[in-house]
Amino acid sequence: MRIWVNGRLRDADDARLSVLDHGLTVGDGVFETVRTSQGRPFALTRHLERLTRSARGLGLPEPDHDEVRRAVAEVVAANPVPLGRLRITCTGGLSPLGSDRGTGGPSLVVALDGVSRRPDATAVITVPWTRNERGALVGLKTTSYAENVVALARARERGASEALFPNTVGRLCEGTGSNVFVVLGGRVHTPPVSSGCLAGITRALAVEWTGAEETDLPMEVLAEADEVFLTSTLRDVQAVLRIDDRELAPEPGPVTSKAMRVFAERSEDDLDP
Ligand code: PLP
Repeated sequence: MRIWVNGRLRDADDARLSVLDHGLTVGDGVFETVRTSQGRPFALTRHLERLTRSARGLGLPEPDHDEVRRAVAEVVAANPVPLGRLRITCTGGLSPLGSDRGTGGPSLVVALDGVSRRPDATAVITVPWTRNERGALVGLKTTSYAENVVALARARERGASEALFPNTVGRLCEGTGSNVFVVLGGRVHTPPVSSGCLAGITRALAVEWTGAEETDLPMEVLAEADEVFLTSTLRDVQAVLRIDDRELAPEPGPVTSKAMRVFAERSEDDLDP
C-alpha cells in the first residue's frame, strides 16, 4: 500500500507521523472516508466540504482542496483496487505532550485500501450511552472515535454489526458510523441533524432520492418501525433485519429495497467528475 503523508507518497512501512502528533496524543484531527469504485472517488466534493467544516469547527487550518485532490489522485493511481476505502486525515500536527496545540504544523495523510461490498442486510443493537446533541463536536467528523469503538465492540459481542445511539433526551440519533432511517406506515423518516447526528453524505443523498422526512423520533420508534435501514459511505443503503432481540423481517422490506435500488442506480453516476 502506498500512502500520502505530508506532500509525498510512501510505502506503508515508511509512512510515518511523529509520536507527538496532536492527532495521536489528544485526537485533535478530522477525517473523511470516501468510497472509490474502479478508482473513481464518489462524491469527493461533498467530502472535502465536510472536511473543511470539521477542520474549521476544531480550529485546525483549513485543508487546501487542490492539495487534497492531488494526493487523492496519486493514492488512487498507486493503489488499484476495484472497491476502495479512501481515508483522508488532517491532524493538528506536532505538539508537546500536554493538551496545547503545538507549532509543528498540521499533517495530511491519504490512504486507500481495498474492501469488499458490505452485505445488503444486517443486525444492530441499541446502546445505553448517549450522543450529546449540544456537545462542542457535534456535526464534526473528528478522529476522536473511541466512543464508537466501544459501542461497536458491544455490537459485535452480540452478533450485530452496528450500534444505535440515543441523544441525551432519548431521541434516536445515529449509529457508530452510519445514519438511520425508519419506515412507518410507508413513509420514510430520519432524525434531523439537530438530534446530534453527523450530516452524512449518504444520508443527504438518500433524503433527496427517497423523499425521506427529517423527523425527531423517540427511541421507542424502533419497536414499531415497519422497516429500518442504515446509510453510510461504505454501506450505501443497508437493511436492518434485527434490532436487539426484535426480528423485523427475514429480508429487506419493499421501501428499503427500493431505496437500495435507487441508490445503486444513481450512485453509478460519478457525482464528482
Ligand atoms: N455517522 C457517523 C458517526 C459516521 O462516522 C458516519 C460515517 O462514517 C456516518 C454517520 C455516515 O456518513 P456518510 O454517509 O457521510 O459516510
